[in-house]
Amino acid sequence: MAKATGKAFRKTMLQQFAVTRGKGFRLRDVDPRDTLDLAEKDARAALEQGVRRLAGLQEKLYAQDRWGVLLIFQAMDAAGKDGAIEHVMSGVNPQGCQVFSFKAPSAEELDHDFLWRTSKNLPERGRIGIFNRSYYEETLVVRVHPPILAGQHLPTELVTKSIWEERLEDIAAFERYFARQGYLILKFFLHVSKEEQRKRFLSRLDEPEKNWKFALGDVREREHWDAYMKAYESAIRATAAPHAPWFVVPADHKWFTRLVISEAIVAAVEGLELAWPEPALAPADLAAARKALARA
Ligand code: ATP
Ligand code: MG
Repeated sequence: MAKATGKAFRKTMLQQFAVTRGKGFRLRDVDPRDTLDLAEKDARAALEQGVRRLAGLQEKLYAQDRWGVLLIFQAMDAAGKDGAIEHVMSGVNPQGCQVFSFKAPSAEELDHDFLWRTSKNLPERGRIGIFNRSYYEETLVVRVHPPILAGQHLPTELVTKSIWEERLEDIAAFERYFARQGYLILKFFLHVSKEEQRKRFLSRLDEPEKNWKFALGDVREREHWDAYMKAYESAIRATAAPHAPWFVVPADHKWFTRLVISEAIVAAVEGLELAWPEPALAPADLAAARKALARA
């Protein structure tokens, strides 16, 4: 059997990249190029299996209508968030799935607290909600670019040097609340190297059908790479918890990134031990319905 499909290997893989306690976490301990020596074709085969398993689990999740799932994807540009979401979720029934992309906030959103737009877009029970970026941007892009914070209409006395620590504390509290409401929260940081990002940007410029993905601002953001890495590290340290783990996923090889994400989701949803709901009708009622259909 291929290594990638072995249970023991899958467990080791997840342990390697899951962060359930943030204290002491260091981003530099995760190598973006890592593939755990897997062969690409084995990883692709295992991903296909993962996609099928997730499809089955999602049906149960939906039928049972008790738990909800929130998947958060964060990354630097071109790390492969969109492709990972597309591939990992490709087997899932679109009716049980909701995707939200968090862009720069609108004027209306800026006139509210930062979790306001999140609350409006949380998944229903029985559904999988996917956040393509999230409220974490409030401690990432906003932290790296002080003018964005200045545009947030906050009372000046509340903008102190503790603001990032406070935001992260609020995020952790929000996630604990949400977990206690019956939501599984999994957070993925796709950890791409600066060099691999450069290559991907170049291919967006070289290949006409990829041109649309390229924005000039993306190149400018590279100048802030180290500040972003520091901000990500603080965010992961402050908010990794057993009920809301981070997965810091090596992202220089897309096929590996997708496998780790898929395995993490499948393992966590399997851990919910979902059950099909009890049939609404008693066996006698089912028999009566069958009889009635035979007559009709
Ligand atoms: P792609 O990889 O295709 O570029 P993307 O997720 O970067 O996808 P974009 O439309 O390029 O999508 O970017 C959304 C932008 O919105 C990001 O630069 C992000 O930092 C920014 N953004 C998200 N949330 C906030 C926020 N709360 N405040 C300010 N900017 C934000
Ligand atoms: Mg972008």
